[in-house]
Amino acid sequence: MYLSRVEMTGFKSFADKTVIEFNEGMTAVVGPNGSGKSNLSEAIRWVLGEQSAKSLRGNRMEDVIFNGTQARKPVNIAKVTLVLNNEDRYLDYDFSEISITRSYNRNGDSQYLINNEQVRLRDIVDLLLDSGLGKNSFSIISQGQVEQIFLSKPEERRTIFEEAAGVQKYQYRKTEAERRLDKSSDNLSRVKDIIHELE
Ligand code: ATP
Repeated sequence: MYLSRVEMTGFKSFADKTVIEFNEGMTAVVGPNGSGKSNLSEAIRWVLGEQSAKSLRGNRMEDVIFNGTQARKPVNIAKVTLVLNNEDRYLDYDFSEISITRSYNRNGDSQYLINNEQVRLRDIVDLLLDSGLGKNSFSIISQGQVEQIFLSKPEERRTIFEEAAGVQKYQYRKTEAERRLDKSSDNLSRVKDIIHELE
C-alpha cells in the first residue's frame, strides 16, 4: 500500500484543483518558500482526520479554505482526496485503489468519503489503524517533532513503539468492546429494575 495521489481543491493556497502524483521513485517535494510544501503535508494530515486548526497553522477550521488573494476571490469549500494504491491488499478493503476524501464548507458542513461513499471519520480511522498512515502516525514528522520524541516521558514514548508494533488497533478495539460491555450492563440493570417493579 502506498499513497499514489493527492488531489486538492480550495485547500489553503491550492485554489484550483491541484493533483500531485507520487510516482515510484519520488522521494522529495521541493519548491521556493511559500510555494505550498507545508500546505501539502497539512492537506494529507487533514484528510486523515486532523481536528486541531492550530496544528494546521490556523485559528479556526475555516482557515484551511482558500481565503483569496489580491487577484482572486475566496472560495467556499476545501476538498482534499488521498488515493492509496492497495494492490497488495495491505488495507483490509477489497479494492486495488482506495480514495479517502474530506471536504469542509464555510457554513461548517464537513464530509468524509471512502471511494465516494459517505462515511464517518471513525471509519477512516478504523481503515488506517496500524497502517502507518494515521493522523498520529510517524509517516509524517513535522518540524520539532523529533526533538519532542526525545524529550517525551517514557509512557508517552511507549505509544510510539506500540504504533510501530501494530498493537494500537487491538487497544482501540478493546476500548470499544469495554464501552459496549458497559452499555449492555447498564441496559441489563434497567431491565432488572423494570422486572422488579412488575413483580
Ligand atoms: P517554506 O519553505 O517557507 O516553509 P512552504 O513551501 O512550506 O514554505 P507553505 O507554508 O505551505 O509554503 O505555504 C504558505 C503560503 O500559503 C502562504 O503564501 C500563505 O499565504 C498561503 N496560505 C495559507 N493558508 C491560506 C489560505 N487559507 N488561503 C490562501 N492562501 C493560504
